[in-house]
Amino acid sequence: SEFAKAINKQLSGLVLEHREILALLAAGPKEQQELFALADAVRKRYVGDAVHLRGIIEFSNYCCRQCHYCGLRSANKDVKRYRLGEEDILLAVRRAVKVGLKTVVLQSGEDRFYSLEQLVRIVRLIKQSTGMAVTLSLGERSYSDYERLREAGADRYLLKQETSDEGLFVRLRPKTTLAGRVQCLKWLKELGFEIGSGNMVGLPGQSTGTLARDLELMRELDVDMAGIGPFIAHPQTPLAGMPGGTLDMTLKTLAVARLLMPEVNLPSTTALETLYPGGRKLALQCGANVVMPNITPVSCRRHYSIYPNKAGIKDEPEECLDSVKKLIAELGRVVGTDRGDRNKK
Ligand code: SAM
Ligand code: SF4
Repeated sequence: SEFAKAINKQLSGLVLEHREILALLAAGPKEQQELFALADAVRKRYVGDAVHLRGIIEFSNYCCRQCHYCGLRSANKDVKRYRLGEEDILLAVRRAVKVGLKTVVLQSGEDRFYSLEQLVRIVRLIKQSTGMAVTLSLGERSYSDYERLREAGADRYLLKQETSDEGLFVRLRPKTTLAGRVQCLKWLKELGFEIGSGNMVGLPGQSTGTLARDLELMRELDVDMAGIGPFIAHPQTPLAGMPGGTLDMTLKTLAVARLLMPEVNLPSTTALETLYPGGRKLALQCGANVVMPNITPVSCRRHYSIYPNKAGIKDEPEECLDSVKKLIAELGRVVGTDRGDRNKK
């Protein structure tokens, strides 16, 4: 079968091409077990048993964009908007240090309220006072903004390509283009950031071919991390009521990502846990090696409603971390003790 041929090519160490990637993504229920086992073995061999934890602080849910998939789009008037000030952000960071996290991810909508100077100051303060790795996820900005943030000490930047289908991209993200987003990723890489891209699995209008190209684009961009999670329809968006990504397709996409990019950092996403309780654990057995506990102050968290019923909405960082650590131990894995930079081979 095409699937068996693709697996054999992978085992012989050759670079998989589009149609082989497609064959792997089309794996049936029995074949996919073989795919998952192989991805787990590749994960173990290239990045080992460490699971790296990244504390994510969703510091503002204001956004000027209109992405059709996202509950934070500015046209959604039913969201209670919030912004954390510098003090609250630093408080959350200190709590993260206390529980032993080595990376903090600062994420927000595209919110121009924070001046570049303010963002630079926040990054600098975190770097000076904690030495943690700082990941930013602030959307599309200019080269010079990225440059200033890099100079301030930011280590990584998360900007998902979302979909590699240009037509679908412009339909879902008004006034932005795939080329523009990819340009941002290239700038970030040039500036020395570790870059994270990724996609949503199960977007309306997406085919298996699109998913294969999504992965090919991540490989081509040589991403250091790949955030792959299911699309979950939000009721107050133009995509309300649409079917979302499935557990199986998301796990297959993760597994193939691990085969194509053996040393990439691959998070097991909250979106997957939301779609299917226990999904986080399954992802860690299909190639994933990163978990991102939410350390946003609990009072704000439910308002960062990208999609409905987000998992872990009520857990304090300490509780959330305990359950993640238990899960990692159950799997016979260990919590990463260093920053968990990408292991470049
Ligand atoms: N505003 C920044 C951006 O768009 O890059 C960062 C925050 S944004 C909320 C983070 C990610 O949420 C996006 O990259 C997107 O993949 C994901 N997301 C948004 N709506 C989603 C949905 N309905 N289902 C699953 N993921 C979603
Ligand atoms: Fe804003 Fe990001 Fe949501 Fe798009 S995905 S509406 S840019 S927060």
